[in-house]
Amino acid sequence: MGEKKDVPLRRALQTIPATESNLGGDFLAYVYGPVPSWRLGRSLGIDLLSVREKTCPFDCIYCQLGRTVNKQIRREKFIDLRLLQAELETIKDKVRADYATFSGTGEPTLACNLGKAIELVKNILSLPVAILTNAALLKDEEVLFSLLKADLVIAKLDASRIAPDEVQINTPIRPCPVKPLSQEEIAAIQREFFALKKVTTVYEATRPIVAPLNLAETIRRRPG
Ligand code: SF4
Repeated sequence: MGEKKDVPLRRALQTIPATESNLGGDFLAYVYGPVPSWRLGRSLGIDLLSVREKTCPFDCIYCQLGRTVNKQIRREKFIDLRLLQAELETIKDKVRADYATFSGTGEPTLACNLGKAIELVKNILSLPVAILTNAALLKDEEVLFSLLKADLVIAKLDASRIAPDEVQINTPIRPCPVKPLSQEEIAAIQREFFALKKVTTVYEATRPIVAPLNLAETIRRRPG
């Protein structure tokens, strides 16, 4: 059963009983969630940046993490994968998720150890791996080779002439400085794609009930 579609994560999580694990009994610096995702179901977050301030090449007005403090396109190693490995070993038998998803406090492809991290996560968690990317670094061959190791790459792409098999229509319904499009406005856009078999919208998609491993660290990355 999916939770109500437009309930912010913070409010939805208040309905989950507090346990030692989801209130921070295990401090986790790189793994968060699971969070309910309209695309991925129960999505266990992996944060390869794990920085206090958002690090991204863009500064989207609708970003749930607020303004970009570290605006950069240069790749670097933000975390030591031995530390990520230790966290994954700690939680691997405690968590139920549909995907391990690289996202977090900025653009995950900025991490130059992304490819090795994907291999590590797949080996330890035996989960399919998804990457949420803004596509800014897709012209970099090393990034592309890393992304080939993932099971699913969800890339934001702005283009005027494309022929998709499927369209997912989104509007920022989590807290942000801009007002989301209403359900009626989204439905009007949806009608424009009448010739396509699969058109889903953020208002229609269901989300699973989840119990995060660490509530505070999860809300830091997914405040809404
Ligand atoms: S690309 Fe993503 S992380 Fe970066 S500013 Fe935009 S919404 Fe935020």
